[in-house]
Amino acid sequence: MEFLPTDRLMDLDRQHVWHPYAPMPNPRPTFPVRSAQGVYLELETGERLVDGMSSWWTCIHGYNHPQLNQAALDQMGRMSHVMFGGLTHQPAVQLAHKLVELTPAPLQHVFFCDSGSVAVEVAMKMAIQYWYNQGQPQKQHFLTIRNGYHGDTFAAMAVCDPVNGMHHLFRNSLVEQYFADAPQIPFEGDWQEADIASFAAILETHHQDLAAAIFEPVVQGAGGMRFYSPQYVKRARELCDQYGVLLILDEIATGFGRTGKRFACDYASVAPDLMCVGKALTGGFMSLAATLATTEISQTFAQGEAGVFMHGPTFMANPLACAVALASLDILDSGDWVGQVHRIEAQLRQELAPCQDFSAVQDVRVLGAIGVVELHQPVDMAVVQPQFVQQGVWLRPFGRLIYTMPPYTIEPDQLRRITEAIVTVTRQDPG
Ligand code: PLP
Repeated sequence: MEFLPTDRLMDLDRQHVWHPYAPMPNPRPTFPVRSAQGVYLELETGERLVDGMSSWWTCIHGYNHPQLNQAALDQMGRMSHVMFGGLTHQPAVQLAHKLVELTPAPLQHVFFCDSGSVAVEVAMKMAIQYWYNQGQPQKQHFLTIRNGYHGDTFAAMAVCDPVNGMHHLFRNSLVEQYFADAPQIPFEGDWQEADIASFAAILETHHQDLAAAIFEPVVQGAGGMRFYSPQYVKRARELCDQYGVLLILDEIATGFGRTGKRFACDYASVAPDLMCVGKALTGGFMSLAATLATTEISQTFAQGEAGVFMHGPTFMANPLACAVALASLDILDSGDWVGQVHRIEAQLRQELAPCQDFSAVQDVRVLGAIGVVELHQPVDMAVVQPQFVQQGVWLRPFGRLIYTMPPYTIEPDQLRRITEAIVTVTRQDPG
């Protein structure tokens, strides 16, 4: 590949490349990255930015990690891809075994796919087909909670927050699902049963039509960056059992240590019937996701009408991605992610605290390696994004939220660059 001069690159980008949640052509500031190393993104224009986003929760060990690179190179020398229908291979089998070991005990079976949204689609289809297999084909609806985010494909979008997700744009193509009020009791708040009353009421009224409840445990990510009581997750599990409804936990953002536990559901000691993982699974190296299921669910498929689960992506269990994921889990196992995440948490708490006093700020909250400053007004991205870059950090606010979830390997002085930039920008009212 020939390298284009930066002006030409950006011209072509503006003309032809559609960026996420961006208009086309794109008038917004966009920054060309040449390479990435450790916690730094290196721009074509020469700046080095401390990455506060981990490329949307994924890059937990930092960029260009030698062990991940080596795992990819080794696997490339054997095969980078092979179909998964009728064939299997070392990386997929070993990764499935590892995921079964790491996740709550009832989850025994792993369905690989290529992205988080698809892992959610797979979980929802599994739930529907499970009830079909059990002679209850009417159980095809889902219960979720407001402020959630589960991806941008149609079934996933239908269980995202209806307002944030602009459901009205797609209303004739989108299945209407049931939305309980978002949990209000914060992570360390005292539990009150009223917090889950609306979830319980929907279950009571509609359980006969409900295949599953689906939500993000403890941390709601892109739908609002909210942290809530693990007791909600515990009670939701009990209520789902009481009403004969499956529980799907979406750990795509929270999985692999981000919240301070390996999985956020560990805070509640809850095992779901189906769990979705993705994002940090390969340490941000490449796309891979998975849906894990209990034996209770999987064993019904052989006797169901189809006899099989009706899904099979072309790049399912890509060997390169599985080999890198195994290497990433090895790095987690052999390293001190618990200590790293707790150190980041303590530093974020201390250094973001001053934001609480600024007039533009509504709330400051930290859990694990996630720091959030919520403003009263939406951020003006055209102004704020270049300001962060000028200060040598990469942060990507959305709506009223400025937030960071850095790589676990970030050093205190590098993290301080991020917190100082957030303090500077929020002090001067970024709205
Ligand atoms: N679920 C959660 C909780 C997420 O945060 C995301 C992505 O942000 C998804 C699902 C969708 O994952 P992907 O973007 O890989 O499709």
